[in-house]
Amino acid sequence: MATKINFNGEIHDHLNISVLDHGFLFGDSVYEVVSTLNNQPCFLDKHLTRLYASAQAISLKIPHDKEWLREHLENTLVASGNDESYIRIIVTRGVGEITIDPSSCEHPNIILMVMDVTEYPKSFYEKGIRVALVSIKRNPHNALNPNVKTGNYLNNVLAKMEADRLGAQDAIMVNPWGYLTEGTTSNLFFVCEGHILTPSLDCGILSGITREMVIQLAKENGFHMEEGKWPGEELYKADEIFLTGTLKRVMPVSHLDGRPVGLGKPGPITLKLLRLYDGLLTKKV
Ligand code: PMP
Repeated sequence: MATKINFNGEIHDHLNISVLDHGFLFGDSVYEVVSTLNNQPCFLDKHLTRLYASAQAISLKIPHDKEWLREHLENTLVASGNDESYIRIIVTRGVGEITIDPSSCEHPNIILMVMDVTEYPKSFYEKGIRVALVSIKRNPHNALNPNVKTGNYLNNVLAKMEADRLGAQDAIMVNPWGYLTEGTTSNLFFVCEGHILTPSLDCGILSGITREMVIQLAKENGFHMEEGKWPGEELYKADEIFLTGTLKRVMPVSHLDGRPVGLGKPGPITLKLLRLYDGLLTKKV
């Protein structure tokens, strides 16, 4: 098992990046994290579509097409020899002058990281995790739009640090108007009286690929599924809470701000959706 890093088409074991890359200096970059099944990327087309949309949103022109990325990712996965991999695709603004102005950055850098994957412990899925509603707000979409997946994650880093201080494993953020948004690297779902609720995109969230799949699965399986706006306090009324993300899949939440959610263990709807999502993953690669 090995780490392989493809830098603009060449595969390396280690990589040093210039400190003048604006991705490093300003978080001026876009990225995707992709999981694998049998070392083949899952939902790659959706991830690449979102990568190009994020790049376009920050006027970053990716110098190659999707096919180029697919081909180089495939070669890098083969070179890794991993059973399963953690894939991170990063496109940075590139090297430029040490000013905030990106106009001197002429060549974006494309980095495909393929690493050994560290899975979340089984106990997280069996017992659920502890989350906290934190005071740090999610960026409003007219600032740094959370639906653009950039390398600037300091908002979420600060939220995660606050959750740690509160003894929780992850943070849930509200937007500046007090409406629920998402976790630090995941989307939020909760269940009230049998209805599955999730903040709508206009609350200021990333349109998660797992979120999209889970909404579809819930609807196909006859659940009442609603996207909308709910104040942070609504979460205290939830019978179940879960988070979704490429690496987390469907992760149950057992405690909110130190208080049990429902019976303080993964609820039946969460477990059903986890099973359905895992089933989908093994079918569609
Ligand atoms: N929200 C944020 C802020 C994230 O970083 C992620 C992880 N990419 C998600 C949601 C979940 O998105 P996905 O299901 O596409 O991994």
